[in-house]
Amino acid sequence: MQPRRAPLSLNVLIVGAGIGGLSTGFLLGRAGHNVTILEAASELGEVGAGIQVTPNMTRLLIRWGAGERLKGVAVVPQMLNLRRYSDGEMVGWKLWGDNLERDHGAPYYHIHRADLQRILLDLAKPFVNIRLNSKVQKVDPSLPTVTLESGETLKADLIIGADGLNSRLRDIVVGHPDKPTPTGDATYRALIPTGPMMKDPDLRQLLDEGSVNVWMGPGRHIVSYCVRNKKEYNLVMIHPCKGTNETARPVDTAIMRSDFTGFEPRVQKMLSLVPSTLLWSLMDREPLDTWIHSAGKVCLLGDACHPMLPYRAQGSAMAVEDAAVLGNLLSRISSPNELTPLLRAYQSIRHARASATQMDSRMNRHIFHLPDGPQQEARDASMRAAMEEARKEARADDADGCVGSANLWGDRNRNRQAFDYDADKAVEEWLKENELGEMIV
Ligand SMILES: Cc1cc2nc3c(=O)[nH]c(=O)nc-3n(C[C@H](O)[C@H](O)[C@H](O)COP(=O)(O)OP(=O)(O)OC[C@H]3O[C@@H](n4cnc5c(N)ncnc54)[C@H](O)[C@@H]3O)c2cc1C
Repeated sequence: MQPRRAPLSLNVLIVGAGIGGLSTGFLLGRAGHNVTILEAASELGEVGAGIQVTPNMTRLLIRWGAGERLKGVAVVPQMLNLRRYSDGEMVGWKLWGDNLERDHGAPYYHIHRADLQRILLDLAKPFVNIRLNSKVQKVDPSLPTVTLESGETLKADLIIGADGLNSRLRDIVVGHPDKPTPTGDATYRALIPTGPMMKDPDLRQLLDEGSVNVWMGPGRHIVSYCVRNKKEYNLVMIHPCKGTNETARPVDTAIMRSDFTGFEPRVQKMLSLVPSTLLWSLMDREPLDTWIHSAGKVCLLGDACHPMLPYRAQGSAMAVEDAAVLGNLLSRISSPNELTPLLRAYQSIRHARASATQMDSRMNRHIFHLPDGPQQEARDASMRAAMEEARKEARADDADGCVGSANLWGDRNRNRQAFDYDADKAVEEWLKENELGEMIV
């Protein structure tokens, strides 16, 4: 799939230089559009820690030329271990390693967010103008224009809201203030240097096997894995929390530890090594009916239209898929009249998949957080059955694919749905099946 230059060059404003905004900026700029990204922050240093980058996303990043850069900073997880919180008993297991690349055609990586952000920034920079300290305050969707906090007004042919969970552009598209709702959960995120972990045989084992570990407990869970060539160990620690402040804030590590007192000894050892942590409230939103303003010149992308709870590790993948579809469609535009139909095509290709992934992420919260009791026992039995199948598969015996398992990563059909998706192929198929396709291909 060779990059295409659009017959008509548009002036595009993208609001937000996160994972979605940078990806979209790169693709639209490369297609010959005149792109400015407006970013509220004064610098692009992503706070956060590790991120799971799944095959549906790496497929695109590799196609965009970032394969070697990614490989240089990524860790390939060797297996998935799902454990009981109190004693660490493994109730679910799946061999990953190179199997995921073999099965889904692209690798599964664990990466530090800052490394991913840097790679996307380096891709985008030659093709876009990035303006920092440029918080968008007002939008006139019919002209369309944006007005910055400074009072400056900028006009464009198209405005893309890639401004994240608390999107200002979302209010404009839906026509009223539309705040996210607290889930009642929050997450601590932290990185441990692996040096001290190597000195403890129990913790060293976690590093040596290169696995992603999930400890599932009542109302809370922990996910852990290596990043940065195994120099750092990433922890995501989700727990009940009444706060509604969704920006990351530092919290005393003693408070963090007190939220996981019932967890097994290895977890206690790991948590005692955490040097500092940030707390993020987890907010949710219902799927939107439309991602496009009725005047047809403003659209939404990524968390601005479909924020994902982190229980399926698909939020940035969905933003990157959106970017790929929008970028592909707008690389074909030859007349201003095609803009609104192409935005509708973007929504039509993306909406069902992104909304279903939002629901899947929510469902996995329920599965991971079951209180001890009959439902949790049924979940563990379902995961154990999938583990047996996964072991057979690893021995190259006949396995049934674990369809319907409570271990969503053990279910062959779910994996195919999530990881086999190719955003560019989805565009090609849509164009073949729709009249607009005949006009613009
Ligand atoms: C704990 C946690 C773990 C996660 N783990 C994973 C994972 O493993 N894998 C995965 O795929 N996803 C994961 N996600 C989800 C992922 O982080 C998001 O889905 C992704 O970052 C969304 O990208 P985005 O570009 O849409 O928005 P963002 O990354 O939020 O970027 C929005 C940008 O817009 C800017 N902005 C906001 N308002 C304005 C304004 N008015 N004017 C100008 N600029 C503005 C912001 O400063 C920001 O830079 C996780 C999320 C959380 C909370």
